[in-house]
Amino acid sequence: MRTLVASCALIAMLACATAPAPAPPADVVLRAGRVFTGDAARPWVSAVAWRGDRVVALGSDADVQPLVGAATEVIELHGRTVLPGLHDAHVHPLGAGREQQGCPLSEAKSVDDILARVRACAAARPGDGWIVGRGWDLSLFPQANPHKRLLDAAVPARPVYLEGADGHSGWLNGAGLAKAGIGKDTPNPANGVIERDADGTPSGTVREAAAALVEDQLPEPTLDDDVRALGWAVARLHAAGITSIMDASVDERRLAAWQALASKGELALRGVACIGVEPTDATAALEHARALRSRFADLPLAPSCAKIFLDGVLEGETAALLEPYLDRPDHRGTLNATQAQLDKTVALLEADGFAVHVHVIGDGAARAALDAFAAATATNGKAGRHRTLAHLQLVHPDDAPRFAALDVTANAQSLWAYPDSYIREVNLPQVGQERVDRMYPWGTLVRAGASVVGGSDWPVTTVNPLEAIEVMVRRQDPALVAGPVLGKGEELALEVALGAYTAAAARLFGHADEVGALRPGARADLVVLDAALSAERAADISDAKVWRTYVDGRAVYRADGPAVPQP
Ligand SMILES: [Zn+2]
Repeated sequence: MRTLVASCALIAMLACATAPAPAPPADVVLRAGRVFTGDAARPWVSAVAWRGDRVVALGSDADVQPLVGAATEVIELHGRTVLPGLHDAHVHPLGAGREQQGCPLSEAKSVDDILARVRACAAARPGDGWIVGRGWDLSLFPQANPHKRLLDAAVPARPVYLEGADGHSGWLNGAGLAKAGIGKDTPNPANGVIERDADGTPSGTVREAAAALVEDQLPEPTLDDDVRALGWAVARLHAAGITSIMDASVDERRLAAWQALASKGELALRGVACIGVEPTDATAALEHARALRSRFADLPLAPSCAKIFLDGVLEGETAALLEPYLDRPDHRGTLNATQAQLDKTVALLEADGFAVHVHVIGDGAARAALDAFAAATATNGKAGRHRTLAHLQLVHPDDAPRFAALDVTANAQSLWAYPDSYIREVNLPQVGQERVDRMYPWGTLVRAGASVVGGSDWPVTTVNPLEAIEVMVRRQDPALVAGPVLGKGEELALEVALGAYTAAAARLFGHADEVGALRPGARADLVVLDAALSAERAADISDAKVWRTYVDGRAVYRADGPAVPQP
């Protein structure tokens, strides 16, 4: 294909100048639609054509007509929307697949609903082994702190461990606490909390590093289990219109699962994988990341990124704040490393060519991470780094201009950016209205010149990017036509929100030459939605459904195709 194009160009210079040879026909033409190109000079056109894995033409229906040949598949869009393949810049596909294989709880709407599902899971898996689930809604419980009693009533004899939806809290029954060896005399581990009754007895909830005391005891899934889980997750990503991802936290097992899936030839997904590293020991972090990067160098999902968990979450009061929590005036949360440790870790990783992706929830963590990037620039000089801070529930206004100055991308989980029950019932008493009003400040960051990308954090929240894009634009509950707004003025224009899921993310991933915008020569990664998207009817954005998803010009999802089987 490449030679053909090159020789045609050569012919064009010699003979074709007077009598141009007709361009070879396209394989596929989509026309009579609304095509978002991602090109600011011409953001919307009506038709797109590709040949092989490359876009060959965009424009009006008449512009692409000369490319229609006898064998060209012509698809009339009837006003459907085409977007460049969507990028999910913070997602945990294996976690989502494992949740589906275990006892999934993220759809449960009440405490009784959770308990009924757990009972059903136990009945479906006879024996005396662990029942493992995840995804329960923390806001269903006072202080996000469920008691073991509730689970004991549902499943008294077998150990049960249920990870919360945010991934930072776990809930056990009495048998689970006993099996994990967590008792009255067990001290809180570093960076972890065992919630307790007044007499010091563990009450059933564990936070952050305390969850590791349990997770070390759970049965390990096999590689086959993980490959099936990942295969299911990739099919779900395609069904959501996603063609590129940043896997936000991988270890050796996750990379091995990606590699096994890729070696079956079933990985039609691009992106970057971020290797989880401990920021407390810079040298060990670098060695660990280098070892995995070289071992998995051939992976289509390049392990060229390192992930640092810098703080926790507001719900558990483990997020690091600049000012204290209102209900604990002596407490600002904690960073998972000292500033000196963090500075050294970031500088070493970046000097070795790693992109650095940091989990930050509190404004204290955001500042510490920005300080570390500034220190790394001072040490290493300015180079093409791909820095990203994910979540950013609170950012001090003074820090907003530093994103652009330090080339730090804001990685937005926008589905969280409306006044839901977490924010109203759990976060508001913790941090107060003034801080609630400036949560997830995407508008402020964009006005300060920052690049914003979008990520789902699936399975923490839904994989559907259209819900998150709608919240980016409206800052209201996507299920409501009109609801309360979080942070007036923090809304983004529709094109900026679409850019967050396409061109801006492609830049962050280092793929902007290939994907992220539709233009001749780009890869034919694109998604077709069954509706028109418009800023005027923003409340309808999340109602649109994916109709087709293409990777390299090949349909990897069709709404009228077979359903995704369970993993
Ligand atoms: Zn995450």
